[in-house]
Amino acid sequence: MSMNETKSIAEMDRSSVLHPFTQLKEFASGKMGDPTIVTGGKGIRIHDARGHSYIDGFAGLYCVNIGYGRTEVAEAIARQAYKLAYYHTYAAHTTEELAILSDRLVRMAPGKPSKVFYGLSGSDANETQAKLVWYYNNLRGLPKKKKIISRECGYHGCSVISGSMTGMSFYHDHMDLPFPGILHTGTPHHYWGAEPGETEEAFSRRRADELEKLILREGPETVGAFIAEPVLGTGGITPPPAGYWREIQAVLRRYDVLLIADEVICGFGRTGADFGSTLYGMDPDLVTVAKGLTSGYVPLSAAIVGERVYDVMEEAADRVGAFSHGYTYSGHPIAAAAANAVLDIVEKEKLSERARSIGLHFQRRLKERFAQLEIVGEVRGVGLLGAVEFVADRQTKRRFDPQLKIGARVSKAARDRGLIARAMPHGDILGFAPPLVVSESEIDEIVDLAYRATKQVMDELAKESTP
Ligand code: PMP
Repeated sequence: MSMNETKSIAEMDRSSVLHPFTQLKEFASGKMGDPTIVTGGKGIRIHDARGHSYIDGFAGLYCVNIGYGRTEVAEAIARQAYKLAYYHTYAAHTTEELAILSDRLVRMAPGKPSKVFYGLSGSDANETQAKLVWYYNNLRGLPKKKKIISRECGYHGCSVISGSMTGMSFYHDHMDLPFPGILHTGTPHHYWGAEPGETEEAFSRRRADELEKLILREGPETVGAFIAEPVLGTGGITPPPAGYWREIQAVLRRYDVLLIADEVICGFGRTGADFGSTLYGMDPDLVTVAKGLTSGYVPLSAAIVGERVYDVMEEAADRVGAFSHGYTYSGHPIAAAAANAVLDIVEKEKLSERARSIGLHFQRRLKERFAQLEIVGEVRGVGLLGAVEFVADRQTKRRFDPQLKIGARVSKAARDRGLIARAMPHGDILGFAPPLVVSESEIDEIVDLAYRATKQVMDELAKESTP
């Protein structure tokens, strides 16, 4: 390693890394403190260069489902690296690990999967999905049927098209997004979106009606696909209201609109089922996976293409020539080997079932601890995804002044106590997505630390408001 002898790791980082989702001036000036240099991890815990240990209640970024430090995966990566570190998958080349992984994904994915296309991130896989929608409709002789509808508060990545699909304006601002042809419809969040007294079922019907009106307004001949996360993730960790997917899918079928299930968070057990689509009765045409596919051990994503789309592509091939899309690293053998080792663990340790049973305990504990607190508006979640949303007034659902940064303060107080729980970027929300290998007693520890952090911030707020 070529080390700069005169600079510390923190100094080298500060002077040379452009960090994602970071206020650049606050970082550069040191106001945010030194970067946390993460040096190791085991199970649900990570530690840093200062010797601090944290429970990672967010599995990195909802990805380290099998926990840190799994030597089985490290060994599979090393074995493949010794054997063959790289070969491409263009023009009928493959590797053993990739063929095995693909066969496995086609057998397990929701909908009617036919083929798997590989990328390196959730963002690029969703970018591929958009191109597939356009390609499919061009090949069908429907060149106008290209618009893609996503939802307000949905998160699908931050490349050009995936970033446009993402339905939060701060991901668009100053970056010339959203791209034309990407539209947004209402968020499925009952707590914020419902009229007083409106049931979840009625709210779901209203959201489906709104979607139908949007499709009719644009012209069904111009709308190609609807993309959504089974459980809305970064936009608030919000499970769908009752009846939502039934109502939405009925509309999509009526207008020949493809369904893209973005399973980047939900896939491989997070919700307590293998896929969120399975849990909610979704029948997607295209499925996006990433994160849990390799538990974050190496970058890998996939756009899983259903029969409806793939059959059209194959049929048109003599006419249009090669499928001209792909990356140098599509289906990288080391990533495939890692994914196979991860999926072996997910199967052997029955992590979906575990997420369901431990998840029930987690949801119960979260509600017991938080639901009565006077700054808590809603406690929600499914499986091992959970959220606590803070409000200034529970009766009127008045939000806190954003300047107070309540979510971030609670998250910071939790971190000071050794728990990573994420302040979600939209609203005052503390989010949880622990590794699926978490135990019941570790869940109790996570909820207890988060509760004490919240009480601490409540005490501080009380002091600040006393003259
Ligand atoms: N889709 C969903 C549902 C996600 O949660 C994310 C990342 N949080 C992405 C897509 C984008 O994935 P990546 O950050 O790997 O590009």
